[in-house]
Amino acid sequence: MPVTGCLSPHLPLPQSQCERLDWHPPRLGERVRVIAWTCKCRVPLYELCEAGGQAFIRRAVHKGGRWKVQETSRWRSAEAHAMWTALLSGLAR
Ligand SMILES: [Zn+2]
Repeated sequence: MPVTGCLSPHLPLPQSQCERLDWHPPRLGERVRVIAWTCKCRVPLYELCEAGGQAFIRRAVHKGGRWKVQETSRWRSAEAHAMWTALLSGLAR
């Protein structure tokens, strides 16, 4: 087993029909559960999150020594999972 193997997915390049997601500043003071994430060896790092019965995707870029975090609008859980799949397929970004 390779010691440096990556367990989490790497995102492919966006496809030509890639959907542009809207990215907003993160809401603060919320209990967020992270359900899935992309590999930490790449930036941006994407996370599928749940909070208050809704779900969204979070994007983190390491910039100037700190993490800059943005997140999408809130969706119902099923929609967010579909969007996560699209993201991992290069169909949303
Ligand atoms: Zn990796």
